[in-house]
Amino acid sequence: MRTLLIVVLLAALVAGLASVVTVERYVERRVTLARYAERGEAGQSSTVVRLSIAALPHRWESGRAVVYFAAPFEGLAKDVAQALDQALALIKDQMGMDAAIEVALFPEPPEWEEGGNVRVVVKEAVWPLFVEASWRRLADVDFGFVLFLYNTLPHEAVEGAVSRYLYHDRRARWVGDGLAEYAGYLVSRRWAPSIAEARLENLREHVADLLGQGKGVYDLLQEFRVRAGDRPRPSTPVEAAGYGVSLALWLDLTQRHGEGVIRAFWERLSPQKPWCLIPPYLVCIGPDAETAARVLSELTGEAIWAKLQRMDLQEVLEILKRAAQEIPEG
Ligand SMILES: [Zn+2]
Repeated sequence: MRTLLIVVLLAALVAGLASVVTVERYVERRVTLARYAERGEAGQSSTVVRLSIAALPHRWESGRAVVYFAAPFEGLAKDVAQALDQALALIKDQMGMDAAIEVALFPEPPEWEEGGNVRVVVKEAVWPLFVEASWRRLADVDFGFVLFLYNTLPHEAVEGAVSRYLYHDRRARWVGDGLAEYAGYLVSRRWAPSIAEARLENLREHVADLLGQGKGVYDLLQEFRVRAGDRPRPSTPVEAAGYGVSLALWLDLTQRHGEGVIRAFWERLSPQKPWCLIPPYLVCIGPDAETAARVLSELTGEAIWAKLQRMDLQEVLEILKRAAQEIPEG
């Protein structure tokens, strides 16, 4: 019963998160990311709250992680930086991927409490982590914070690393979000098993929904594309299932060929940085989704490009179930 409650809560949270935090591209001297957090229906008029790390006087760095914070949250900031650095070290160790992340501990905007449609905009290339006034250490935070720390942020760090190489090709989302989900799974399985379990349960539900509608095959190249445009909007059921389908692809490959397959894949792909013509990286020459599939085919001997277009959803469900069995008791 308790597990069910957590899963339901988490499903709501993750579904909410997918629609509340999106990424906008804009041109400064380089492409910088701005983060949007939005509550309420997209498209409705909303109160916009603008946040900036200029309001946070302190900065703590731990290896691959940087945390901006205000004085009362120094202990928490150090805990968060350490946790993120450990997470990114695990990703480096097991996936061979260098990822880094910057986060800012913002006090929860009072406008959120008042309800209504509130949109939070963070201009800098940092991820916001919202803190309650009473939190001092990691032991004090709530479930949503832990989820963000051990699943969402490792996900975003890895996806950020992949996107610089491949997201000029909208068909490459199976690499970015697939490896990102894999990283979130590894990290949460290690430090927050209940989060890993709940996330997999949530992904299975989205896949089961499609199966329930009679859809048995998923095309990752057509149905799970890098989003064009930048406005926050909720994902469709087909898009929501794509996270689970692309995770299953990588889980299956590592189960059959060993985790070294990701390391070897990234070693082959990452030196080939694309050459991009226009600052927002819309026109690029370099590796794309087909390059990625070809590299993976050479490493595994499998017809990856064809496989991507015909992912069997029943099999996906089985693979996600097996991954849940690999999670240690929380
Ligand atoms: Zn993602």
